[in-house]
Amino acid sequence: MHRIRVIPVVAATLALAAAPLAQNQSSSSSPAAAPASTRAGRDDTRAERLKADAVKDVESMKDFTQQMVDSIFSFAELGFQETETHRYLVDVLKKNGFTVQEGIAGIPTAFMATWGSGKPVIALGSDIDGIPQASQKPGVAYYAPMIEGAPGHGEGHNSGQAVNITAAIAVKKIMEREKLPGTIRIWPGTAEELVGTKAYFVREGFFKDVDIALFTHVGNELGVSWGDRDGTGLVSVEFTFTGQTAHSAGAPWRGRSALDAVELMNIGWNYRREHLPLEHRSHYVVTNGGDQPNVVPRNASVWYYFRQTTYPKIKELWAIGESIAKGAAMMTNTELQPMRVLGSAWPQHFNKVVAETTWANIQKVGMPEWSEADQTLAKALQKELGGREQGLTLKVGAELQGPVRDNRGGGSDDIGDISWNVPTVTLRFPSNIPGLPGHNWANAISMATPIAHKGATAGAKVQAMTVLDLVLKPALVDQAWDYFRTVQTKEIKYEPLIRPEDKPAIEMNKGIMDKYRPELRKFYYDPSRYKTYLEQLGISYPTVKR
Ligand SMILES: [Zn+2]
Repeated sequence: MHRIRVIPVVAATLALAAAPLAQNQSSSSSPAAAPASTRAGRDDTRAERLKADAVKDVESMKDFTQQMVDSIFSFAELGFQETETHRYLVDVLKKNGFTVQEGIAGIPTAFMATWGSGKPVIALGSDIDGIPQASQKPGVAYYAPMIEGAPGHGEGHNSGQAVNITAAIAVKKIMEREKLPGTIRIWPGTAEELVGTKAYFVREGFFKDVDIALFTHVGNELGVSWGDRDGTGLVSVEFTFTGQTAHSAGAPWRGRSALDAVELMNIGWNYRREHLPLEHRSHYVVTNGGDQPNVVPRNASVWYYFRQTTYPKIKELWAIGESIAKGAAMMTNTELQPMRVLGSAWPQHFNKVVAETTWANIQKVGMPEWSEADQTLAKALQKELGGREQGLTLKVGAELQGPVRDNRGGGSDDIGDISWNVPTVTLRFPSNIPGLPGHNWANAISMATPIAHKGATAGAKVQAMTVLDLVLKPALVDQAWDYFRTVQTKEIKYEPLIRPEDKPAIEMNKGIMDKYRPELRKFYYDPSRYKTYLEQLGISYPTVKR
């Protein structure tokens, strides 16, 4: 079946929407004569009216949102190799009137898109990269890879840009119609799984003139929070040792094994682990273990994530890692090469004022309505994984989450770096299923189904309303900065974990993508031919075990 691709160059919708609203414009003109309280009331009424327009418009763009979610899902690209995703997003943004600076901060798959002029400058961001070995048929409630061993969206990063772009287009139409000043920026969290880029965006000054950063991330609820978050920041470091080759049987005494150094470093770290603070997290993979057994390995490398809950504690953990690496080099008479920093993330801290503003909008939007098919998929997957068959989240949480008190550690996101430079929040939107392991094929299952589509539309509504609040009420931006200056950064000042000599690790994942891209390309979503990606794949929704 041939269908027309929805390209929301939205002149027609704009004309329709503008007609009834033009009459109302006079009611908000010349407010100077009114008493302050009346004026504030009138401003609020206007804001609520414009926000309602934006929500309606986001709803009308739901097919466009779905196409973005499904397209990026089908590209299934790993960090730093998001070339199709980058090309696709830049194309959509340019078609919708954004000016796009490509390849920012020396990262080919990063961009900064801009529309509008003047204050406030609102930057909308979301991650775009996938997870190794997470290839999975969407809508199928058990392990069913599309391509065995290939990457996939096992974190759900295919959905966040759709949230932001849909919201931005809706807001842009209103700003044009109402002649509102303000600048909207859209940017990708490139290589977030490697926490590989956001510190570089900050270092290169891309957030210098930004007033508020509204980040969004997939979750299984509609939520936001403020203050110190649970979880960690981290530094990602590769240690490389150099030894000497020799015939492993003929003259092993003439060799010095770099692999021995890697193994001893890992053993040393794992003994030390017992005496590290409980909230820390650390893990490693061996990235080079030598060439073949009969040649003593001259080079070997191991890649560590050192995670802790504060900047000084991350630095301490990193220093312990370095000293253990030096010890391993001494034991094996090999040489430790200069450490390579592959990524970094500050612990996250979110802005109270922006979170409260977002929270009020979350209350208004509420959770999507799930169909029986959506719930059947969710429960079947939860059963498959041996968990509680709780289904999908039905209601928004009872209250806005404040600062975490007893941080037991956990994951990281380099949005942390931005959150210490500009008032920031992360909006979580409900495109995934509760009770999943994360970074896994199971987390990809909902991500090109009605669950992801409805969740992204709900997120876009909230995001559009929050941008409009910030554009229409400059006092909110001032209050956000007041919290940022007098509370958040009163005692803690941002210092990057990346060192001056560090550069984005843009070559990472190239080998894996070169291997799988030809196969993946056969499955790229074609919205001109199929209404949804499920339809293109011929998957009946939901597919569950009987
Ligand atoms: Zn993520």
